[in-house]
Amino acid sequence: MHKRILIVEDEASIRDMIAFALRRADLEVVHAADAQAALVAIADAPPDLILLDWMLPGMTGLELARRLRGEERTAEVPIIMLTARGEEMDRVNGLDAGVDDYVVKPFSTRELIARIKAVLRRAQADGGTGSIEIGGLRIDGPAHRVYAGDARIEIGPTEYRLLHFFITHPDRVYSRAQLLDQVWGGSVYVEERTVDVHIRRLRKTLESFGLDSLIQTVRGTGYRFSATR
Ligand code: CA
Repeated sequence: MHKRILIVEDEASIRDMIAFALRRADLEVVHAADAQAALVAIADAPPDLILLDWMLPGMTGLELARRLRGEERTAEVPIIMLTARGEEMDRVNGLDAGVDDYVVKPFSTRELIARIKAVLRRAQADGGTGSIEIGGLRIDGPAHRVYAGDARIEIGPTEYRLLHFFITHPDRVYSRAQLLDQVWGGSVYVEERTVDVHIRRLRKTLESFGLDSLIQTVRGTGYRFSATR
């Protein structure tokens, strides 16, 4: 069955370019030029994934993302945010609006499709299974939230994806190349040292909760997530 992608983008040229590329990649496309039109399309039938532009006339993409996360029917629909470089990118990365990933403009449609496929794969693997808990760390899959005990951990989308992959694949060693493939969707635009950068950030975040030892470096091989030393 074809996956249905909703593109929410006010610039017709970008919308058409994305729609064309997605259809060529065997994805079904629905589009909307603003948040209101998106809500109508979603009420009609929730899509498998939403590509959401940050800057929209009226309600912004971020406001729409929050609203969709807050509604039971759309809480689990994956969202990829399209942002301009700079401040928007920092803000999406720094806060948790329940966004699964973000792609910075200008982007190549090839990279966009790789990201879409990675997010769809993860959504499928999740199967809406709810929360997973290991070693004092809990991930609430549908809500895209991470907790240490009762304390909510603020985490960026890439670190969330990395952590989600680790927690669903514990006690196994993964090389940087494997992590790139699994977490970044095998994007050729990402270098292996990017993995180290995000591992460092993730550890730093977990450090405040005394949970950084969950992510272990396996010298000469890669990384492992484990509650046992
Ligand atoms: Ca726009």
